[in-house]
Amino acid sequence: MTSTDAMNEGFATPADATPADATRADGASEAAESAREAAPDSGAESAAPLGPGPVVSRPDAAAATAAELLPRTADHFALFQDITGEELDAWATARSLASEIDRLAEAWDKADYPTELIGRLGELDLLTDGLEVPGHRALSPLGAGLVNMELSRIDGSLGTMVGVQGGLALRSIVMLGSEEQKQRWVEPIVTGTEFAAFALTEPDHGSDSVSLETVARRDGDSWVLTGEKRWIGNGANCQLSVVWARVDDETQPELHGQVSGFLVEQHLPGYEAEVITGKVALRAIHQAHIRLADVRIPLDARLPGARSFKDTSAVLFATRAGVAWGALGHATACYEAALEHATTRIQFGRPLAKAQHVQVRLSNMLQTLTSMQLYCVRLAELEAAGAIRPEQASLAKVHNTRAAREIAADARDLLGGSGILLENRVARHKADIEALHTYEGTDTMQSLIVGRSISGTSAFA
Ligand SMILES: Cc1cc2nc3c(=O)[nH]c(=O)nc-3n(C[C@H](O)[C@H](O)[C@H](O)COP(=O)(O)OP(=O)(O)OC[C@H]3O[C@@H](n4cnc5c(N)ncnc54)[C@H](O)[C@@H]3O)c2cc1C
Repeated sequence: MTSTDAMNEGFATPADATPADATRADGASEAAESAREAAPDSGAESAAPLGPGPVVSRPDAAAATAAELLPRTADHFALFQDITGEELDAWATARSLASEIDRLAEAWDKADYPTELIGRLGELDLLTDGLEVPGHRALSPLGAGLVNMELSRIDGSLGTMVGVQGGLALRSIVMLGSEEQKQRWVEPIVTGTEFAAFALTEPDHGSDSVSLETVARRDGDSWVLTGEKRWIGNGANCQLSVVWARVDDETQPELHGQVSGFLVEQHLPGYEAEVITGKVALRAIHQAHIRLADVRIPLDARLPGARSFKDTSAVLFATRAGVAWGALGHATACYEAALEHATTRIQFGRPLAKAQHVQVRLSNMLQTLTSMQLYCVRLAELEAAGAIRPEQASLAKVHNTRAAREIAADARDLLGGSGILLENRVARHKADIEALHTYEGTDTMQSLIVGRSISGTSAFA
């Protein structure tokens, strides 16, 4: 086989190379070395003994300006370059958690849940998710979005920790809880000293969670909860679950048969939870399968603002935009890794990025990334103006999770074999995006919500 044949086959080896090729191959590897040396923060100091170390550099945890946080190569329309003040501060604070990237990678590999990072998120006041909590960081929708984006850009499980603790559990209590419930739970949740879950999905009711079967039966001065929940982040070994159940209380006809929210402490008798194992996405956060066997809670543990499934939906709709931002974070990380690799990896004697086809692919990725950014920025504007509609958040969620999947697939391919190594992070992001694709309403369900709004007719059932 000639060297040209071998190259055409895509597996040229030094043994196959002609002298001219050999010179080029040597020059190429030199160029690769020097390019790697020139790459900022290449991670060479942490090189594994058996290899050259990660080929994709890690985010700079000390970045403080918008230009450092998101270089123009990833912000082509300069959508984020003018961000200042509290929004910039929150964004840079979120980025500081890039110092935990190795800890998260190890946790992902071992399927451990580093719950101490919820405490760290609380210390940094990053758990508010745009909610107004007295004494805590008040974030605009843009600021909250940037935090979601940045945390998922570092690691999807980290982003999901905020989504569960702040986005879903805290939001349920802030939006629908009594003053006493807020007094008891808001501060420990927002500071990350106690961990909370949002338990809606059931083994037999995911997309049709409106048909949930868990029951809260009134028994004298108590509610007695019976049923099962599945896929519940923070549902095991934590402190509180906000459980959504159907009310069985004939003394309250307006509530009887409706869905409401109940604050269930996880240590109570009858609350049994098992961590779901064998996941291939978001491995550094745990979800649980919960069994509620006649769990007895006081009457005042019901969220008074939760009077029907519409109130549950209001919480979910508010967090959907966060998923669109999270998908943007994953996609940004993948695009940046692909760009860095394409400009430093030498094949056929030149950087990959010299190939027209590679440049077109990078350009396509940037087009997709920019569209995701535009969706997010417009969502934040609408939310800030109090003008956002649920189907707009659905459109953004489905667009961005789908787009993130495309970018991750392209990035993984452009990294070649390195693309399947966890240390280069693209494979982790690619796997984690699969969870975003499904949770908080699947790709299809979000499309059906949009379809209903434009056609005027529901196709759900
Ligand atoms: C990692 C992860 C974390 C999660 N965290 C939480 C949590 O903290 N709390 C919580 O309550 N839930 C959580 N969930 C649950 C999540 O919201 C559900 O998985 C999701 O709503 C889908 O439900 P399902 O898995 O039962 O899929 P199904 O509803 O069974 O859907 C299977 C497929 O059928 C499609 N489908 C369903 N109905 C229709 C229809 N009418 N027409 C066309 N297609 C349809 C869906 O789009 C999907 O493709 C989590 C899930 C995951 C994977």
